[in-house]
Amino acid sequence: MLTLTKREVQVARHLDAESKGNKWRDYKWQLKHTIRDLDTIQKLLGITWTGEERADIQETTAKFPLAVTPYYLSLIDPKDFKNDPVYKQAIPSVNELQFFNYEMMDPLAEDKDSPVEGITHRYPDRVLFLISNTCSMYCRHCTRKRKVGDIDFIPDRKTVNRGLDYIRQTPVIRDVLLSGGDPFMLSDDYLDWILSELRAIPHLQIIRIGTRTPVVLPYRITDNLVKILKQYHPLWINTHFNHPREMTQSASIALEKLANAGIPLGNQSVLLAGVNDCPRIMKELVHKLVMNRVRPYYMYQCDLSEGISHFRTPISKGIEIIERLIGHTSGYAVPTYVIDAPGGGGKIPIMPNYLISWATNRVVLRNYEGVITTYREPDSYEPVFCDRNCESCKLQLKLDPADEYKTIGIEKLLVDYDQTISLIPSTTERVERRNGNNAEDDSLM
Ligand SMILES: *Cc1c(COP(=O)(O)O)cnc(C)c1O
Repeated sequence: MLTLTKREVQVARHLDAESKGNKWRDYKWQLKHTIRDLDTIQKLLGITWTGEERADIQETTAKFPLAVTPYYLSLIDPKDFKNDPVYKQAIPSVNELQFFNYEMMDPLAEDKDSPVEGITHRYPDRVLFLISNTCSMYCRHCTRKRKVGDIDFIPDRKTVNRGLDYIRQTPVIRDVLLSGGDPFMLSDDYLDWILSELRAIPHLQIIRIGTRTPVVLPYRITDNLVKILKQYHPLWINTHFNHPREMTQSASIALEKLANAGIPLGNQSVLLAGVNDCPRIMKELVHKLVMNRVRPYYMYQCDLSEGISHFRTPISKGIEIIERLIGHTSGYAVPTYVIDAPGGGGKIPIMPNYLISWATNRVVLRNYEGVITTYREPDSYEPVFCDRNCESCKLQLKLDPADEYKTIGIEKLLVDYDQTISLIPSTTERVERRNGNNAEDDSLM
C-alpha cells in the first residue's frame, strides 16, 4: 500500500482538513483543489515573498494564468524554492512580462498553417489537432501561452467536429496528434467519442496524444481511462518530463498503467535554463524515463514565444548535452534535439558532428571518446537507377498500394527522377531582376 509523503499530507490537510489526504489520489479532488492564488501558495509552501515580489507575480498572472495541482506543488522543496525546478515551471515570474522584438505570439505559425480552427496541417501526412485549451498545471514555459487558458479559444464540440471533418476529407493524413491544452482534461466520455470518431476514419493509421498529466496529475491515469484508450490502438502517447525529480512513485504507477495497456510511451522535454540545462540532470532524467518504459523522443530548444526568454539557453547547451549522451549511454535513452523553426518550418534536428572528412572512397569519423576512424566505402556499387517505375525494378516493393507523396524540398535534389538542380528562394534580388528583364527565362543559374 502506498503511503503519502509528509509534504503531501501537509498540503492535503491545509487544503481540505476534512479528508486529511484520503482523497489525494482522486484526480477530481486534485482538480477541485487546484491552486490559483498566491496566498495559498505562500501558506502551503510556508514561504513569504516580499511585497514587491508578490506584486510582480500578481501582475504576471493577469497576463498568463496560474494553476498548480496540489500534487505538483507538493514536489517543491520550500527550503530552496527559488532554485527549485518544479517551482520554476509552475510559479509565475515577473520575467514573463519581458518581451523582445525577436519574439512572437505564434513563433511556429501554427495559426497560419491552420485550414480549420484547432488543426495545424504542416507536414504532408500528419496534423496537430488541439482539442482542449486547459491544463491542470500551467507550465510557465508553455510555447502555446497565447492560447492555453484563453477563453477566446475553446474547442467545443462544433469546432472539434469541423476538425474531424477536415481529417475525414483529407486522405493524405495518416497520423493525428491530439494536443491542447491537455487532452486528458476532457472527460472520459468525451475523449472516448473523439477517439472513436478518429478510429472510424479508414486512412488514419495512428493516433497520438500529447499529455502532461503523468507529470502534474498522475492520478488522472485511471483504470477507466486506460480501458478506453486501449480500444483505439495503434495509439501512442507522448508526455513531458523535464527533471528527474518529477519521476515520483505516483508518476511511475501512471506510466506503468499506460505501458501495460500496450501504449508506446515517448517523452518530449524542453531545455530550460535553471531547470535542466545540465548534462548530469538530463542523463539522470533519460535513465529514469527508460526505466519506466518511456522512450526519450525529443529534447526541444525553447521556442521564441513571448514571455519565456528567461528559460532560453544557447543552442550550444543542447549540443553539449547530446554530445554527453550519445555513446555514453543506451541509444534508447538519447532524444533527438530539435529546434522548431520560427515561421513554421517544422522541427529541425541538431547534433554534434561525427563526420570529420570524406575522400573518394573513405569517410573519416570520430566517436564519442575522440577515437578517429575511417570507414572504407565499396569500390564498386551498382546504384539502381530510379525512374520510379517500381514494377520493372529488381528491388521488391510489391506493396500495392504503398502510396508515395510528391517529392519535397531537398529530396528533389537527391533523386534520379527529378531534374531540379538547385532550390532558389523566390524572393532574391537576382530572381526579381531576371523576372523583370526577361520573364520567359526561368533558368536561374
Ligand atoms: C511536432 C508536430 C507534429 C509531429 O511531428 P513529429 O516529428 O512527427 O513528431 C505535427 N504537426 C505539427 C504542427 C507539429 O508541431
